[in-house]
Amino acid sequence: MKISIVGTGYVGLVSGVCFSDFGHNVVCVDKDNQRIEDLKKGIIPIYEPELEPLLKKNVKAKRLSFTNNLEDALKDSEAIFIAVGTPSRRGDGGADLTYVHEAVKEIAKLSKGYSLFVTKSTVPVGSNRNLIKIIKKSNPNLDFDVVSNPEFLREGAAIDDFMKPDRVIVGVESDKAKKIMLDIYKPLYLRDFPIMFTDLESAETIKYAANAFLATKITFINEIAQLCEKSGANVKDVSKGMGLDGRIGSKFLHAGPGYGGSCFPKDASALVETGKRLNTEMLITKTVIDVNERVKARMVDKIVSLLGGEMKDKIISIFGVTFKPNTDDMREAPSLVIIPALINKGAKIRVVDPKGYNEGKDLLKGVEWFNDVYKSAENSDLVVILTEWNEFRALDLEKLAKLMKIPRMADLRNIYSKEEVLSFGFTEYDSVGRGKE
Ligand code: NAD
Repeated sequence: MKISIVGTGYVGLVSGVCFSDFGHNVVCVDKDNQRIEDLKKGIIPIYEPELEPLLKKNVKAKRLSFTNNLEDALKDSEAIFIAVGTPSRRGDGGADLTYVHEAVKEIAKLSKGYSLFVTKSTVPVGSNRNLIKIIKKSNPNLDFDVVSNPEFLREGAAIDDFMKPDRVIVGVESDKAKKIMLDIYKPLYLRDFPIMFTDLESAETIKYAANAFLATKITFINEIAQLCEKSGANVKDVSKGMGLDGRIGSKFLHAGPGYGGSCFPKDASALVETGKRLNTEMLITKTVIDVNERVKARMVDKIVSLLGGEMKDKIISIFGVTFKPNTDDMREAPSLVIIPALINKGAKIRVVDPKGYNEGKDLLKGVEWFNDVYKSAENSDLVVILTEWNEFRALDLEKLAKLMKIPRMADLRNIYSKEEVLSFGFTEYDSVGRGKE
């Protein structure tokens, strides 16, 4: 099958690479010419584990190509996936559909013959129905269908998630479109991965409900962590004990510095906005957004308190700034709130992150970047573990303690234990939700 993918970001590029690995003939389009030039040369614009070798393998097999010419990409395409961004709209926090609308109009104008528009971008309920109107207006005689196929991949594990999904959701209303979608995902359903067909509205809602629920789960354990700090309970044990209940499950129950990333914050706020539009208050999601902001602020308080309240000219070395490990994505990372707050209080910030520099250099003003954790810790007053990259899981704590001016650690991902850290010469240690430790 020939498929075209419009937008070569985290979702479009991963989808394109994986579909080509299924054996389809995939053309990826982006309006960012530099990105396409780079991809043609084998330069990958994002960091995602396993992406590069799989991309190169499929380019070599001539199943995957890149272009900035939409008309070329659309030729003979049996499905056109839209994977452009849907960022938060300034002001009301709803999803900004400008890129989706632009892409769909362009595609509609250039399309000839039956065209299948598949929306992979995350769009609020009602958006795909509206796309039908937009397409009809742009090209009144076009024979087409619109499918909602929201994507659930996680950055950092995107290839694996795409190749072995928990489910594929397809909102579709015609048999013809359903058959094409089944053909596209055949390699998955032949291996018994669930493919669920729904109407357009349900597919759209599943995506937002899933993300809002996961954001709620994380925020819930973060709130429990705060209680643990006051009560003397250990949130790691609490999470484990809760997670063993099959109705709850152990995933997304790790206390930390608050959720971030390209999806949860914007999708939660878009859901609240959709609720307003449909006159249904999304009270839980609204509260989750509020609590998550407080969690980040609480991390700043923790750091201030570890430094005895005196922040002026204190050197803080931050390990990890991306919103989670194994990605270079900085969108809505807790570091973007926590670091400026510390700088405002007079601290000097050093930063180490295995992949965060390219995205982070313009977003984190006034920080000093290091490649090496030990160099960054030299003569510092505090080390903060903010993102749990594997590199930070097995630090030489003794070496670290000796290099620091005052060996103190804020472990905001609960990687270590107080006993362990203090045994290597640290004088103070704090983590999240571990009261008595
Ligand atoms: P991204 O910002 O990384 O990539 C979007 C790409 O689309 C950019 O390269 C941009 O140049 C391109 N683009 C924009 N308008 C275009 C047009 N008219 N023609 C061609 N290219 C165009 O975005 P992303 O993170 O891949 O997210 C895409 C969508 O998928 C969003 O709706 C997002 O919510 C959703 N999503 C993202 C993730 C994730 O983990 N990133 C997971 C699931 C769903």
